[in-house]
Amino acid sequence: RKTILLNNRPQGKPTVSNFEFVTEDSELTVSEGEILLEAAYVSVDPYLRGRMSDAKSYIPPFELNKPVHSGVVAKVVASKNEKFKEGDYVSGMLNWSTQQISNGEGLNKVDGSKAPLSTYLGVLGMTGLTAYLGLNEIGKPQAGETIVVSGAAGAVGSVVGQIAKILGLKVIGIAGTDEKIDMLKDKFGFDAGINYNTSKDINADLKKLAPNGVDIYFDNVGGPISDAVLFNINRFARIIICGAISVYNETELPTSLSVQPFLVKNSALMQGFIVSNYAEKFPEAIQKLAGWLSEGKLTYTETIVEGFDNIPSAFIDLFEGKNKGKMIVKI
Ligand code: NDP
Repeated sequence: RKTILLNNRPQGKPTVSNFEFVTEDSELTVSEGEILLEAAYVSVDPYLRGRMSDAKSYIPPFELNKPVHSGVVAKVVASKNEKFKEGDYVSGMLNWSTQQISNGEGLNKVDGSKAPLSTYLGVLGMTGLTAYLGLNEIGKPQAGETIVVSGAAGAVGSVVGQIAKILGLKVIGIAGTDEKIDMLKDKFGFDAGINYNTSKDINADLKKLAPNGVDIYFDNVGGPISDAVLFNINRFARIIICGAISVYNETELPTSLSVQPFLVKNSALMQGFIVSNYAEKFPEAIQKLAGWLSEGKLTYTETIVEGFDNIPSAFIDLFEGKNKGKMIVKI
């Protein structure tokens, strides 16, 4: 069995040399109350970058020379725990390891006959919940309003935009390639999109696309893209700070616009969002997302990378925008 450890903390952009692969031959055996798991799908996520640093955050850093962990869907291959039987699939926070022992705590059974197993890491998992709860709890969307979503072609952003469409908003997405902008409009029903890599002036482009201004900004990226959006907010705008991927690899704090004047003059709300703070709302959110999926109102895209050995490079590729929708590694 193979396991991936954090070997050293990334300085700037992560590289494969930050990780170490360990191979062990000894067989794992289950004791009373335990299950043996075989990884099927591993989620790689931008927030893991934060856990690889030792800076204080809302969640403790990964320890050096210990396995990295993230959302994983795994198959139960042996069980001495009455809650799980051989052949079950579970999802939860697990090590980047082909096989591991668990006592079952924090794991949820998932049903591959109801939805593809990978979706429990994406649209029916943490990123779907982030989209739904961030938008509703902080964004408080109203039909007829205009929302801008950054990181729009990714796992969270693509779901935010679709939910906003379901709720009757005008939706503008910002993403990094023309192909992604086409996907936002053709597959996900966004009204318009801006390619931040080719736009000469995102602020000016937004003024054309949203002449009535922006009521909600769902921010996944931070930095200059967000500055351009803030120039366009309306009175009582709501700004959901979900992520800031454009600065995760910065070694020095970037200078950006001073946002206070925009918030003051527009009586706007800007709030940081952490999905785990809303755990009591997960069942309701999953029910809604699963309902929309089965009705065909919501769809999703996944970028599935094959092979355990490619977990670190799939993670690093998030910072290059190589994914469309949820980035997942199939073991
Ligand atoms: P994505 O699927 O959106 O993947 C990351 C995307 O970010 C890439 O595809 C890329 O798309 C874009 N990107 C990378 N570098 C930059 C850059 N320098 N500037 C602008 N865009 C960039 O990831 P997720 O949907 O999983 O996560 C999106 C955001 O939400 C992240 O910031 C993440 O940390 C945050 N998040 C927060 C949670 C919370 O509870 N607060 C929970 C889950 C996610 P492109 O080609 O468009 O550049």
